[in-house]
Amino acid sequence: MSKPIVAIVGRPNVGKSTLFNVLAGSAISIVKDTPGVTRDRIYADCTWLSHSFTLIDTGGIEPDSSDIILAQMREQAQIAIDTADVIIFIVDVRQGLVDSDSKVADMLRKSRKPVVLAVNKVDSFEKFGNDVYEFYNLGIGDPVPVSAASRLGLGELLDEVAKHFTPDQYDDEEDDRPRVAIVGKPNVGKSSIINKMLGENRVIVSDIAGTTRDAVDTEVIHNGTEYVFIDTAGLRRKSKVKEDIERYSIIRTVTAVDRADVVLMVIDATQGVTEQDAKIAGIAHDRGKGIIVVVNKWDAIEKTDKTIYEYTNKLKETLAYMPYAEYVFVSALTGQRMQKLFDLIDMVRENQTLRVATGVLNEIVTEAVAMQQPPSDKGKRLKIYYVTQVSVKPPTFVVFVNDKELMHFSYTRYLENKIREAFGFRGTSLKFIIRERK
Ligand code: GDP
Ligand code: GDP
Repeated sequence: MSKPIVAIVGRPNVGKSTLFNVLAGSAISIVKDTPGVTRDRIYADCTWLSHSFTLIDTGGIEPDSSDIILAQMREQAQIAIDTADVIIFIVDVRQGLVDSDSKVADMLRKSRKPVVLAVNKVDSFEKFGNDVYEFYNLGIGDPVPVSAASRLGLGELLDEVAKHFTPDQYDDEEDDRPRVAIVGKPNVGKSSIINKMLGENRVIVSDIAGTTRDAVDTEVIHNGTEYVFIDTAGLRRKSKVKEDIERYSIIRTVTAVDRADVVLMVIDATQGVTEQDAKIAGIAHDRGKGIIVVVNKWDAIEKTDKTIYEYTNKLKETLAYMPYAEYVFVSALTGQRMQKLFDLIDMVRENQTLRVATGVLNEIVTEAVAMQQPPSDKGKRLKIYYVTQVSVKPPTFVVFVNDKELMHFSYTRYLENKIREAFGFRGTSLKFIIRERK
């Protein structure tokens, strides 16, 4: 099930970053950063009451270049229109209604995307009035007074946002076709890979109607199985600003990955793995997706019989935070190993949804505990009572222990390795939740 995307749009200094940080930080849990991957806050996974959504920040605008502010705002708004399900348009009550607000509001209204109008910096909720109501003139609905800095009105704001979530639309439970996202930097060969896969298989429809986002979905039948490929390749934005391009590509990746079971992380063999690749892969990792690292353009490098081995080791070093990832070396040009790609997708997807019986699981864990004593501290030793799998996508285990504090990261890792030895789970991350039972 994928989450709705919420984007924040507004002029410089109205309080976008403040709002983003408050929403991402407090009411809300942000997925912990992937070790070794620096990440600016382009997106955050949030929950509000029973709703989960992904908040995206469409980007900063240089406040000192007033002549290009409107152009940048339009660009930002366009990114939001392209990717978001709901847009929070934020204005500043202290500055009042500004011409560029009206222009951007026109653009948002024409897009027919749901827009929630937040009037920020209303620091006193006792005496707001016409200064807030003035924003009705934007013609995009009721202004919601908030103070991002003082955390006022945020519940009302999120209620308005959540009204636009349409659960059915994101509920893919009924749809059990494998969903595969193809992500990676520009020019690594994403389009070529998808074309090759389409070329050799039957394509049913492309551009499925009813999806509100601009990701291009393509249905493909291979060996009697229907797959949905979610492609980010064709969707490039032209921008003069390098940061904007990168930001947009990350936002696109987040929205595509969200909807997928398995992610094909494409890298270019001739370039090796870069920091941007690690960042992109981190998105899939954070979200617990199945991951296949597809090293493309394998035809273009010189190799000996050791090259694959050496190359894999190098990749694993850079992507050390996801040791479970599968690797495959392909050429979209020659078609080398493109068939194997489908086999890997099937395998990883099965592992994403694999359920292990509790009895067998506890046999493995008991054996593991006997082989390596659990850690102790100040004379108290960790006891593991019981382990059970509670969900899939990714497979998630609850471990009942005597004292959570005693459960070291390294011991969880040890148990994970034992579980992997027994059941495989190749290509998927595993999640462990530690619970105390006295
Ligand atoms: P952005 O450029 O739209 O991201 O704006 P920022 O989040 O950086 O905020 C611009 C300025 O407005 C900062 O100095 C914030 O501290 C201030 N600010 C943000 N929210 C509020 C608010 O609710 N009340 C007041 N008085 N100031 C705020
Ligand atoms: P995208 O931006 O990730 O969708 O990348 P494209 O599919 O547009 O490919 C970028 C460039 O790499 C094009 O010039 C392709 O012809 C080339 N390319 C793609 N796959 C391969 C491959 O397997 N081998 C070689 N040698 N070139 C490739």
